[in-house]
Amino acid sequence: MSCGLTFRALRALLACLALASAGASAHASDERRIAIAVHGGAGVIAPAELTPEREASIRAALQAAVDAGYAVLEHGGSSLDAVTAAVRVLEDDPQFNAGRGAVLTHDGAAELDASIMDGHSLRAGAVAGVRHVKNPIELARLVMDKSPHVFLIGSGAEEFALAQGLTLVPNEYFRTPERERQLERAKQSERAGGAKTSATGTVGAVALDRDGNLAAATSTGGMTNKRHGRVGDSPIIGAGTYARNGVCAVSATGHGEYFIRLAVAHDICSLVAYRGLTLDEAVREVLHVKLQGLGGDGGVIALDGEGSIVMDFNSPGMFRAARDSSGRREIAIYRDR
Ligand code: ASP
Repeated sequence: MSCGLTFRALRALLACLALASAGASAHASDERRIAIAVHGGAGVIAPAELTPEREASIRAALQAAVDAGYAVLEHGGSSLDAVTAAVRVLEDDPQFNAGRGAVLTHDGAAELDASIMDGHSLRAGAVAGVRHVKNPIELARLVMDKSPHVFLIGSGAEEFALAQGLTLVPNEYFRTPERERQLERAKQSERAGGAKTSATGTVGAVALDRDGNLAAATSTGGMTNKRHGRVGDSPIIGAGTYARNGVCAVSATGHGEYFIRLAVAHDICSLVAYRGLTLDEAVREVLHVKLQGLGGDGGVIALDGEGSIVMDFNSPGMFRAARDSSGRREIAIYRDR
């Protein structure tokens, strides 16, 4: 009898332990953090020009982008698919300087740059100076997935796009009246001896998926009034975009020439990897000491291997949004809102 009780007790105990361990592993996989951050450019529209309607519309677009990426992660999709989805939403929105609504060169054309990087394999894809690819981030992704190369430019990139069946559009598709007005103002400022180029609204995303893989993506029309053929940091792996599992993922925005010289995205990851800085410390050192010291302005969104999100800038603001599985949800433009 006592033996039977002991047996039942033992069975109950084993069942209880099995349940507890199932619960624990379910809990552990729940705890695998997923996270995404997006940006819509650091050269934000001046507060005086940003009407409440415009601000609401930009915030809604950032929300749509971050949610599109988060939905991919939530359904077990990869960080690469998440950043591609988020960037595509912003490329299609004419409010941002990427895809439709891209800023114009001195000659009045849109010339688009984009890049993507997989933190798991360190594979990367980039395109620059394309004029007819509706979603340059998709082309960057195809360069990574379907070509032996990392970086294709101009007509070669567009031939590859055609061969891959991507949607090509006339250059006019990208042009908006607002970008034409901005080009006119930039030319006037250049004639008056002021700034020769200006930037607003580049887009980017960084994400961490359930498998712990980091990815980063960036897409842009570059800078208003840039010369034909000018390439900024956005499509340059290590400058505007970088991702390495367990270390960090970065997408940058700002005055590209400075970001190229400092290899900003790679430098941030290197400070984390080799000097053991936290992501926040690394971003602060690169933006507020090195970039600031060189006279450059802009910002980054970044994620570390645990999914901590850092969004920082040394410009007046940066359009940005973030969401993670711990419940963080944020959309902001200026330092504090
Ligand atoms: N970084 C981009 C470039 O220089 C511009 C921007 O971020 O607004 O092309």
